Amino acid sequence: MAEEPCQCSDCQKFYKEHDRLIREFPTFKQQQELNWASIQSFRTLCTKITDDLQKELSERESNGDINSEEKHISDLEISEALDELESVNAYLYSIEALMERIFDTKISNNIETKFREIAKELAPDPLNIDRLILNRLFHQTPDSPDKKNIN
Ligand SMILES: [Zn+2]
Repeated sequence: MAEEPCQCSDCQKFYKEHDRLIREFPTFKQQQELNWASIQSFRTLCTKITDDLQKELSERESNGDINSEEKHISDLEISEALDELESVNAYLYSIEALMERIFDTKISNNIETKFREIAKELAPDPLNIDRLILNRLFHQTPDSPDKKNIN
């Protein structure tokens, strides 16, 4: 028997985002592009921050006595962040190499149609009118107090 999925607010946020990405990017090609752009933007940002922090740290070393009030971030905080970011950058580089392989894959139009169909089943539009009507029907039982107010 399948376990009930967790309903905490973090998980709910994740399910919502997961479904949105299926709904808005329902083809193989769109998912390729989305994930490629997502890895690249993450890498660009992390690399830029790493470079910036390294520069800041070396400037501090050469300037020696900077007023401690000017230091919004401590040297230790910068060193620790640099360690973390360097391993993240290495992981992102590996993911990028794998993504490149996925990015090279081509899918026929017929299979893309299948992707669109399944995407609709997996992540139906929550604001879709048919679904709203269906939800209403489900929630209206004969002695529901809502129904008295509506009629
Ligand atoms: Zn959870």
